[in-house]
Amino acid sequence: EVVVVGSCMTDLVSLTTRLPRAGETILGQKFFIGFGGKGANQCVQSARLGAKTSLICKVGKDSFGNDYVENLKKNGISTAFVGQTADAATGTASIIVDSEGQNVIVIVPGANLLLNSEDLKKASDVICKAKVVVCQLEITPAVSLEVLKMARANGVKTLFNPAPALADLDPQFYTHSDIFCCNETEAEILTGIPVGNLEDAGKVGRMLLERGCKLVIVTLGAEGCMMISVEEPIPKHVPAGKVRAMDTTGAGDSFVGALAFYLAYYPRLPMEEMVRNSNYVASVSVQAAGTQSSYPYRKDLPQNLF
Ligand code: ADP
Repeated sequence: EVVVVGSCMTDLVSLTTRLPRAGETILGQKFFIGFGGKGANQCVQSARLGAKTSLICKVGKDSFGNDYVENLKKNGISTAFVGQTADAATGTASIIVDSEGQNVIVIVPGANLLLNSEDLKKASDVICKAKVVVCQLEITPAVSLEVLKMARANGVKTLFNPAPALADLDPQFYTHSDIFCCNETEAEILTGIPVGNLEDAGKVGRMLLERGCKLVIVTLGAEGCMMISVEEPIPKHVPAGKVRAMDTTGAGDSFVGALAFYLAYYPRLPMEEMVRNSNYVASVSVQAAGTQSSYPYRKDLPQNLF
């Protein structure tokens, strides 16, 4: 089983011709609500590839929270450890996108920040019996670290995605990550080194590896990924296929979710192949609009991926 401990966010998206200025009211052309949050996104992608999944998270006792639980169920995700609290609203991301694709975003984490140690204790059985545990930083960082520690203590593989990045990430996150997977921006925040090319990606990968993880993957958008591990300490570029990108939001989460699936269900596959397959899954997600709405299902993917 793949267990994800992380966030759920309701995306409130308005499409406009331009972004409003302070104090200004403008008319938009379209509005839609989407399901997001890195934790949930990653879990949904894993589930759509066929993984048995549990999401450990917290939403509000409100209509967005109710709808989110329904969404998870529709994706076949176990919601036994999805808490609903009356003390905060479901996390939201209010997003305005203009005709050029520029956006402004306000995230209110709400209930996500109320996920706590008590909740982890209640879920400790599923966490400790998982094949792979995945977490990110859209919940209280100390809670994510506790998850990694619980998993480690029980021999469960840990996949950590340090997003959104924290410049002063607790060093224990590295030592408790079997796989540390970040994008270029996150890599830059963590190391202070901008990633402009493959060589930089290899360099930051090595720096992150030296902080104590077993394997580092830096995702590079259309370029795929750079991977480096304790066993193979020479950075290895794993390119993504050429596709016509339509909407890359949530591509990183599609990648992480796919990787969790391969780690749990094809543990003997060479890492490079897992990464290549995950690139493929994520590259399909960029060819359709939206976040979870763009994530492919197993039945829509080439059978040689399974
Ligand atoms: P994030 O969504 O966190 O910014 P990236 O942009 O690095 O993450 O994308 C994550 C993964 O999605 C990449 O490693 C790649 O597999 C896939 N991907 C993203 N953009 C493209 C693209 N334009 N063409 C093909 N694959 C892509």
